[in-house]
Amino acid sequence: MNARIQPRFCREFHPVGTRVAVGDTVFGGMAVQVIAGPCAVESTGQIHQAAQAVARAGATALRGGAYKPRTSPYSFQGLGPDGIDLLADAGAAAGLPVVTEVMAVADIARVRARADVLQVGARNMQNQPLLRALGQQRTPVLLKRGMCATLDELLWAAEYVLAGGNDQVMLCLRGIRTFGTHTRNTLDIGAIPVLKAQTHLPVLVDPSHAAGKRELVPALARAAVAAGADGLIVEVHPDPDQALSDGRQSLCPGGFASMMQELSTVAQAVGRTLG
Ligand code: PEP
Ligand code: MN
Repeated sequence: MNARIQPRFCREFHPVGTRVAVGDTVFGGMAVQVIAGPCAVESTGQIHQAAQAVARAGATALRGGAYKPRTSPYSFQGLGPDGIDLLADAGAAAGLPVVTEVMAVADIARVRARADVLQVGARNMQNQPLLRALGQQRTPVLLKRGMCATLDELLWAAEYVLAGGNDQVMLCLRGIRTFGTHTRNTLDIGAIPVLKAQTHLPVLVDPSHAAGKRELVPALARAAVAAGADGLIVEVHPDPDQALSDGRQSLCPGGFASMMQELSTVAQAVGRTLG
């Protein structure tokens, strides 16, 4: 590294933790925020049901993908612009800000017109043109760690956004590839305190894509909060068995509500609150 560079992500040069405010939801403060909703927006009914259920259980933001980075081109690719509108309408009806993925520079303007947080998916963590373009606007960014990325690579990816002048960046751990096959990805819990020491940016955890199976999600979520995560992003579907993507790892509304009760206890145990 050039010795003269003082990276904007570094806590050393910015000791106070960054807070990212999205309406009434503040990430990076005492409260642990939970973003919840389906992997993908599928229909008006599905996203409204999901939004109402997660709001009732205490979630403070709604997630839902409209542009989906699917492994196979034959899998459901998301509803695109229509999905963004359905998500925004469902969020407004439930009183929740909305988080959704943007995959291409060309889609940024349309997505940010209706979304409160722009998610960069694991597969795009090092898409530098996308990161640079997100640095040119002021909507908060949720940057997910690539499945094979080191923490340094994650932090330098964040730097692309910060360097453009957008200081509203949150990091998200979603599991990495290891030799283990018992979970979809291996949740790197140790990365939470390491990132909290190295950067002032809020650190979120996605236990759903790490677990791959809904019965494992609550334990990973509790571990993340205990280890100091500033927030979670969790997949919840009104009818997971009928989901068009990631149903196996999606909680049903009742499972999500139970998990939220447990998380509240864990948050209190580490001197924080939930939501
Ligand atoms: C998602 O959040 O639905 C998603 C595709 O996540 P990731 O980029 O972490 O795989
Ligand atoms: Mn998903």
